[in-house]
Amino acid sequence: MTAGAVIHGTGTAGGASVGHLATGELDLSHGTVLTLDSITVSFDGFKALNDLSLAIEVGELRCVIGPNGAGKTTMMDVITGKTRPDEGGAFFGQTIDLTRLSEAEIAQAGIGRKFQKPTIFEHHTVFENLELAMKSDKRVRRTLRARLGAAERDRIADMLALIRLDGSTDRVAGLLSHGQKQWLEIGMLLMQEPKVLLLDEPVAGMSDDETERTAELFLSLAGQHSLVVVEHDMAFIGKIAKKVTVLHEGHVLAEGPLEQVQNDPRVIEVYLGR
Ligand code: ADP
Ligand code: MG
Repeated sequence: MTAGAVIHGTGTAGGASVGHLATGELDLSHGTVLTLDSITVSFDGFKALNDLSLAIEVGELRCVIGPNGAGKTTMMDVITGKTRPDEGGAFFGQTIDLTRLSEAEIAQAGIGRKFQKPTIFEHHTVFENLELAMKSDKRVRRTLRARLGAAERDRIADMLALIRLDGSTDRVAGLLSHGQKQWLEIGMLLMQEPKVLLLDEPVAGMSDDETERTAELFLSLAGQHSLVVVEHDMAFIGKIAKKVTVLHEGHVLAEGPLEQVQNDPRVIEVYLGR
């Protein structure tokens, strides 16, 4: 299914063609893959997001940091359709209005999300997990018992190498280390060929070695995918960061290269003032 097929068109005929029109296929012609435009989300009057604007470029690896409660997870909830904004716009490419799509439609359109806790099939092998992830892709209409073709086996083999689990192909997923489980879940997301990957605290609980390998993985994914990584681990951020967004009280406090935001007095105050 193309992204366009899941759009609830808004009939934009006539009128000034400024801004985003909720029509058609994924349009990356302006180089921006995700746009949040003045998003506000209130919970019982408390603004978890307050006039939040953000733009992610195609192929970018963006790090999002900020103190607990800054709104990082809520931001991901808005992008993935889990939470609807009270105000503001959220667009995938130039034209796909995320606030009009269901969570399933957004995933289908090409935005994958990795939650903090791995959601893998613990009783299946590593290989089977990737196979299941591929088959939940609606474009591959097969029953779970159907035999895999050579091309599909190759895809899984490539993914196993990428996520460094080629030595654990037949291992039951429940027996993997915490870090390996996280990589497996990332591999499962990648089997769906998402354009955008949202990762919420991906290295929490990982060993130093696993954290290092995860940094390498993310750097290798950027370019073909756009990644938005929320993380507290500043050593990890230091390894992968290009542009960093600092959220505070539901809006952007600072944005730019890591060195610049780390030396920003407003950022220092927010972190040291707690
Ligand atoms: P972060 O991920 O940056 O730590 P969150 O996005 O989880 O922050 O939360 C931002 C603020 O919104 C917090 O004060 C949190 O308590 C509040 N919040 C988040 N989700 C809900 C909800 N479903 N109901 C009420 N308050 C919420
Ligand atoms: Mg959070």
